[in-house]
Amino acid sequence: MSFSQSLATHFPNALPAELFVRRTYEALWRLGFVKANTFAGIGLCRDELTRPLAEEIEKTWGEAFNFSGLAGMLYLGKAGFTASLHHAPDEEGSTRHVYFALPHIGIMPDGRIGLCNRPGQLKPSPACGALVAFLNELTTGSIRVNLDMDDIELSLLKQRLIPKLQYGQVPELVALTKIAQTAIREDLERLILLTLGPSHNHYAVLSGIQIHGPQQQTFVWPCEPYAVVDGVRHPITLPSPSPVELGID
Ligand SMILES: [Zn+2]
Repeated sequence: MSFSQSLATHFPNALPAELFVRRTYEALWRLGFVKANTFAGIGLCRDELTRPLAEEIEKTWGEAFNFSGLAGMLYLGKAGFTASLHHAPDEEGSTRHVYFALPHIGIMPDGRIGLCNRPGQLKPSPACGALVAFLNELTTGSIRVNLDMDDIELSLLKQRLIPKLQYGQVPELVALTKIAQTAIREDLERLILLTLGPSHNHYAVLSGIQIHGPQQQTFVWPCEPYAVVDGVRHPITLPSPSPVELGID
């Protein structure tokens, strides 16, 4: 299986990251969100492979608040999230926020899942390493669920995702990454509900999965992006990319 077949099978309608950022900006622009009046929050894995997407977002939306934890889990809590609310540009009685929250996964040129080639390394390495580490524990049946203060983020990741797994079944990495994406999105939406006051009522939730492909290409599989303006939810529709826009064979 090739990379493009694997991408189409597991993440249909994924877009190149740059196109995802541009198309969501255009959609949000129509709802009144622009770089000058909006503050972005970015939750991606700590892995340096995720940086090109973060840089693309910041090029489009300006300097952003960093929500990132291992695997893209959101560990900043109410205090961190509230701080980000106070950094937004002033706009007549309200502020605008756009949130990017995406776990990630590597796909090799031969379609193998969960691996990527990193610059300067001879062998492929796991991506997302944190999710692969968790999956290894599930596979070997040696899951450690206590809160290890020397491994806080991985402990919290496991504690958050285990209740979402089916008892006795070990998911494939693609499924586990989609489970992580669901948890991250739920956590983001809960933080929004817990902290957003009436003066912060315009925001967008842009979640999905970031995919690392051959030649450092990055793609995004969007998952039901939407904006809320004056309390009204607006789905953001992203057309499938054309083969030329997709940029792969
Ligand atoms: Zn990762």
